[in-house]
Amino acid sequence: MVHIDLKYIMLLSPRLEKFKKVRDNLFNFRCPYCGDSQKHRNKARGYFYRKKNDFFYKCHNCGVGTNLAKVIQYIDSELYQDYVLERYKSDAPKTEPPKFEFEVPKFKKIDPKLENLTPINKLNGSHPARQFVESRQIPEEFYNDLFLCSKFFSWAKLSSKQDHPRLVIPFRDESGEVFAAQGRAFGKETPKYLTIKFDDKPKIFGLDRVDLSRRFYVVEGPIDSLFVDNCIAVAGADFEHLPFSGEGMTIVMDNEPRSREIIKRMEKLIDNHHALVIWPDTVTQKDINDMVLAGHKDVQEIINNNTFSGLTAKAKLSAWKRI
Ligand SMILES: [Zn+2]
Repeated sequence: MVHIDLKYIMLLSPRLEKFKKVRDNLFNFRCPYCGDSQKHRNKARGYFYRKKNDFFYKCHNCGVGTNLAKVIQYIDSELYQDYVLERYKSDAPKTEPPKFEFEVPKFKKIDPKLENLTPINKLNGSHPARQFVESRQIPEEFYNDLFLCSKFFSWAKLSSKQDHPRLVIPFRDESGEVFAAQGRAFGKETPKYLTIKFDDKPKIFGLDRVDLSRRFYVVEGPIDSLFVDNCIAVAGADFEHLPFSGEGMTIVMDNEPRSREIIKRMEKLIDNHHALVIWPDTVTQKDINDMVLAGHKDVQEIINNNTFSGLTAKAKLSAWKRI
């Protein structure tokens, strides 16, 4: 009963702080259960999301997960009575139209559970995996969602003669569910990055954290995205086919002025009216993590001060490129 649920989400919305529609069937607001962060008044980590024909609730702060009915009941018991009645009436005549929908079979090649992995925050300071994450200066708030996998290939059900440990970076959807994971090598093992999918969705990292209603940034690497405010990453760097519109979006590609391929892609993005970063000459490192490690403490500011679009972007691009 999607239309009834949507109607009641709208009726409930004035009671939900910072309520907004993220896109079809996805709504975001401050969690009514935990109140979200009291320190950060703009944090909103509660979501209504659709699964099949029903709506559910999930908070990424306190972890509450329930259905829409329970949330309505919690906030407004009168509205809840109306809701129950309306759902009952709509369900009463058992003459449902025949369903032509069918379940898309899921070929789960691997176990999506991260339970067998060790979160980095559970490792002591002398552990090499934790030292690796610290050496990349990754902000500590992310340590609980980065994992050590001691045998990556067997965990990922990939065949390899020489299995080895990797850092596992889970890709979560808006509701927090893991649909893909990237395994980053700790050493010289190749390939450096290996991304596996549990579900057939575009490999976009950070969907569980991004707020698309304000300026957001799109980078290439998941780890790079952890250094930029409100940032997602596209593994595989397909900036042309993102499932959201370009307004409010800044594209931040790696700093590769000698790559013909990159420059071609940047030209196309400018032609398609995207805003993107043209790195200044003072920055010589290839990616954001390397910039941070080289001592650029102000990467966010460099990004904001060097975002261009249209003709300015074209001019900046031809001055920047080294081919
Ligand atoms: Zn909450």
